[in-house]
Amino acid sequence: MPERRLFDSYGRIADDLRISVTDRCNFRCIYCMPAEGLKWLARDDILRYEEIVRLARIFVERYGVRTIRITGGEPLVRVKLEELVGMINAIDPTLDITMTTNGVLLRQKAQALKDAGLKRINISLDTLHMDRFQEMARSDAFVRVMDGITAAREAGLGPIKLNMVVMKGRNDDEVVDFARLARAEGYEVRFIEFMPLDGDNIWTNEQVVPSLRIQEQIEDQFPLVPYNDPRPGPATRYTFADGAPGGVGFISSVSQAFCTACNRIRLTAEGGLRTCLFSLHETPLRDLMRSGVSDDHLGSVIEGAIWRKEEGHLINKPGFIKPAKNMSQIGG
Ligand code: SAM
Ligand code: SF4
Repeated sequence: MPERRLFDSYGRIADDLRISVTDRCNFRCIYCMPAEGLKWLARDDILRYEEIVRLARIFVERYGVRTIRITGGEPLVRVKLEELVGMINAIDPTLDITMTTNGVLLRQKAQALKDAGLKRINISLDTLHMDRFQEMARSDAFVRVMDGITAAREAGLGPIKLNMVVMKGRNDDEVVDFARLARAEGYEVRFIEFMPLDGDNIWTNEQVVPSLRIQEQIEDQFPLVPYNDPRPGPATRYTFADGAPGGVGFISSVSQAFCTACNRIRLTAEGGLRTCLFSLHETPLRDLMRSGVSDDHLGSVIEGAIWRKEEGHLINKPGFIKPAKNMSQIGG
């Protein structure tokens, strides 16, 4: 049993940790990263695997964190990522270790990740058309991503979740096709509202397609029934009323913020603890760790940071300030 839980001042418990292992990426998705890339962190500024594992152990053993999601940037560009998965798994093999990836390196990595203890995977896919993929991800790797999804399935990383960021006028005409794909392949497709975390500052509210509109389009073709989630999270999940395999989920960060139930915290690649995607401050842990402080000391800093977690984000409200970091620098 953990010594205690990570409460914030609004009574929420943080037990879902997202760890970004790199700020780098081999794609340049239009809603995330500028075409020319960003100024990457220096190698020494990024947490080493041993440092990540030390923090993960504190979160798991002291504070009862049960879910660890590895993300980035693109996590699979970090060398030997499966070793990190194995090291985290060794803390507690019953941990729910998951990953979000663009999928392009999965043909090479899926089996090693599964063998190391990865339990589940979310693969980002915004379109089923190669030309559109080129426009949205600014990459020609469509076929490799599709093959990566197959590789993940073959490695036993199912049930596979696909993340689709829906942008008005870009790919919103494909939501029913994605629902059809979910049914055909048994995937869960998560429709994510476009958030103001892009590196190009192109976000406007007009480009956000509210989840309810997406749901209406899907229900016209395929009626849905709410799924009683044993592990409630930010996605509102549904299965198909006719019993077809797969399902859909909606992440309505903009139109129906789920902040009151938010149990997430994030560690950036350089060791900053963030309590909200839209935090304007983070608590730097890397230099503290490197200065030789004890786990007790780190724990008290972590507890203080979580206690100060924001009540919620202010998108579309007066006072909203876009964070200086974009999604790939935070870890989505
Ligand atoms: N590179 C990996 C990937 O794309 O799956 C992991 C990191 S990526 C930052 C994590 C998730 O954030 C992806 O599913 C991506 O689609 C999503 N994302 C990035 N920018 C976003 C934005 N501005 N609004 C909503 N979701 C976004
Ligand atoms: Fe890279 Fe993921 Fe951002 Fe796309 S969403 S640019 S794949 S980090």
